[in-house]
Amino acid sequence: MESFRVLNLFRKMFRPCMGILAAVCMAVTVVATPANCGYTASQTAQMQSVQASLYAKTEGYGFYLDGEFVAASDSAEDIRSALQSITSVLAEVYGAPEGEHSLQNDVAIIEGVYEGDDFSDEKELLSLLGDKGSSFDFTVKNVYGAPINSSLSLITKQYVSADTPIAHGEVVQTTDALAVGETVLVKEGTDGVRFERYANTYINGVLTENVLECSVVTAEPVDSLLWQGTEQGASLMCAEKMMLPYDGIVTSWYGYRTLFGRTDLHNGIDFAGLNGSCYGDDIHAVADGIVTYADWHGNYGLKVVIDHGNGISSLYSHCSKITVSVGDAVLAGETVAKIGNTGRVTGSHLHFGVLVNGVECNPEPYLDWTSYKGIHK
Ligand SMILES: [Zn+2]
Repeated sequence: MESFRVLNLFRKMFRPCMGILAAVCMAVTVVATPANCGYTASQTAQMQSVQASLYAKTEGYGFYLDGEFVAASDSAEDIRSALQSITSVLAEVYGAPEGEHSLQNDVAIIEGVYEGDDFSDEKELLSLLGDKGSSFDFTVKNVYGAPINSSLSLITKQYVSADTPIAHGEVVQTTDALAVGETVLVKEGTDGVRFERYANTYINGVLTENVLECSVVTAEPVDSLLWQGTEQGASLMCAEKMMLPYDGIVTSWYGYRTLFGRTDLHNGIDFAGLNGSCYGDDIHAVADGIVTYADWHGNYGLKVVIDHGNGISSLYSHCSKITVSVGDAVLAGETVAKIGNTGRVTGSHLHFGVLVNGVECNPEPYLDWTSYKGIHK
């Protein structure tokens, strides 16, 4: 390899004069072959040998930058390696950001037969591309030392992704379950999340393109819900029926019944478990509303009352535990208490009532029974 380099160096240094010499010799050969031009046979043979080695055709790989020949190498890998090195050097020289660096130039590595002095090794190739070790030259030279028309240009592709928040909104509902001027935050909203990916392109360290490649909402924002009290406001209840407070069966409907030896008006509906015990099961608010009572109340035991507006309230009693407080805003289906046996009872159950303008009425027509699993009377 070393002798090959020395030979190459020799060829490069002497190529111009050898070329003239060879041309002269060829002319002499053509014009004055019979007379041998005054050279001895051995001199002619020597010249032909130098000429032959100078113009020896060797298999290799030519490296072309933007169509211009730079140098040849006997290894395509050496050319690629040099290009990779120069790309890193350029990234440093231009202060390019982190990313995928490559040359913007048209780079071609063409396998073929090249002349001996076209060849250079990886280190020399780096030098031709401008990397002088301690300094950088922006002019690319070919293997014969002549500058080529193109200069190297570094392209950096950078992908940046980020989650950006999507602000949540606020829904305001009016209700006469609250006094005028009173507001309750029923549900705190949550911001959504948008995932975005940008493809940035830098040329020689300068941002030239910023493309939004992908934008996906990974979490939808959830609006907060605010209730605003108003005497003339629309009711929270509207005309819709209320959901069942408990997924069980009715053990006693509204009406007259005899209990503890006395005939009384049973002023609500009793619910118990579908399959056995219901103690500790969740009791759900039958509609949106504001908690107006959440405490012990004589025979009712632990009792919760929810005002739904329009003069309608719901009542839940004999609870083992209350999970809301007076003033709380609750949404339909929210757990407000646990079934128990507090107050005047014969066993664990939920006594559910509906009050219209403060009077306990038959809750049956107010409830939506479509999901009821027992036998509806
Ligand atoms: Zn009851």
